Amino acid sequence: MQVHLISYTQNPRKVIYSAARQCYSRFSAYRIYSEKKKISSVKLKDFLRHLIRRGHLSPFEHVSFTFALEGISRVCTHQLVRHRIASYSQQSQRYVSMDDFEFVIPPTIAKNKRAKKIYLETVDNIRNAHEELKSILKDSPGLDREKVNQDLRFILPQGSQTKIVVTMNTRELLHFFSERLCLRAQWEIRSVASRMFSACRKVLPEVFSQAGAKCKVLKFCPEDKKNCPLYPKKAKS
Ligand SMILES: Cc1cc2nc3c(=O)[nH]c(=O)nc-3n(C[C@H](O)[C@H](O)[C@H](O)COP(=O)(O)OP(=O)(O)OC[C@H]3O[C@@H](n4cnc5c(N)ncnc54)[C@H](O)[C@@H]3O)c2cc1C
Repeated sequence: MQVHLISYTQNPRKVIYSAARQCYSRFSAYRIYSEKKKISSVKLKDFLRHLIRRGHLSPFEHVSFTFALEGISRVCTHQLVRHRIASYSQQSQRYVSMDDFEFVIPPTIAKNKRAKKIYLETVDNIRNAHEELKSILKDSPGLDREKVNQDLRFILPQGSQTKIVVTMNTRELLHFFSERLCLRAQWEIRSVASRMFSACRKVLPEVFSQAGAKCKVLKFCPEDKKNCPLYPKKAKS
């Protein structure tokens, strides 16, 4: 799997700062953003931490991060795109030939010799059926390459690899990490979230070091998972 941070909002701290300060100022965000007098980086970072602690999160929506993800399965992207406050562009299985589709092998299957054999044989069977169906359909009247591909993809496995670009704002990323870094989240999307989290932390450590799985944020586990070692359940009142 590859997770690349390809872009993020310029001057992210100053953008958040100006938007937040404007809420309590008679001056515009533009004027605050353009002030010649520099605010010290320590003050700026403290200000951002303070906003998060107070839950004043709308200013964080003005800073976005764009990631290019590849080598992940459609199982994973199906979970990813459930996060609605984001933008996505995914490689098409209609315009891009899937003749040599690559696929993800879940670790539990990869390390079990018998299971892996069955898994690989199944993928081979799908590949053969894909090829055979293609050769049957390709000469059908009225069916061009795209029309054939759009129907052939019905038999591709959910484990097929895909590529997707995702843009999320900082507030949504905080939410996404709280859900998908939780040990209850499925391993592949947790791994994607963990890599995205590391990249975001490098850009805005004062913001993202306070983030993480929901238990880290809440200091207790709200999930019904009895054997998670990280945080205790909240005592029932
Ligand atoms: C461990 C785990 C297991 C899951 N299992 C399943 C499953 O079995 N079946 C299944 O269908 N899904 C499942 N999901 C997906 C889950 O239900 C959510 O769809 C997904 O996590 C997206 O998050 P979200 O809805 O909080 O918010 P996002 O879409 O990321 O939006 C962020 C926040 O914005 C607000 N928001 C966004 N859109 C609306 C809206 N239309 N109305 C009101 N508020 C809104 C909400 O406060 C939301 O929390 C699972 C998720 C996890 C983490």
